[in-house]
Amino acid sequence: MTHKGSCQCGAIAIEVTGEPALAAHCHCLDCQKSGGAGHLSFAFYPEAQVKVTGELTRYASKTDAGNMMTRSFCPVCGSRILGESDGVPGMTGVALGVLDESDDIAPAMSFYAKRLRKWDHLAEAIPAFDELPPRK
Ligand SMILES: [Zn+2]
Ligand SMILES: [Zn+2]
Repeated sequence: MTHKGSCQCGAIAIEVTGEPALAAHCHCLDCQKSGGAGHLSFAFYPEAQVKVTGELTRYASKTDAGNMMTRSFCPVCGSRILGESDGVPGMTGVALGVLDESDDIAPAMSFYAKRLRKWDHLAEAIPAFDELPPRK
């Protein structure tokens, strides 16, 4: 299974292969700020399954959970592309909105429900966690 995508302007192309380990919606404040929206939706892949063409700009910041999260975006149009946290080394979060076709990827849970904006909604029929789900 391969998914292709791009940023809004086309300077960045992305191709991901295989099944994501997890897909989720995140309502945390950093996702809200960096996406300019109520939440962002990601699919998490082992980094070897994610190929990016083009030069990404990166911004790293500390998360609520105390990890360093590096967010990558297109320097031309600002589209959010990747998110990588040192709390889950080797995994790359791919912003679902940049994939051309993603109907077969189903977010399985919502993160940071406690940050839900009044004008946003939690996805129905999947679990929502106040912060991150407990680690197995
Ligand atoms: Zn772009
Ligand atoms: Zn988030």
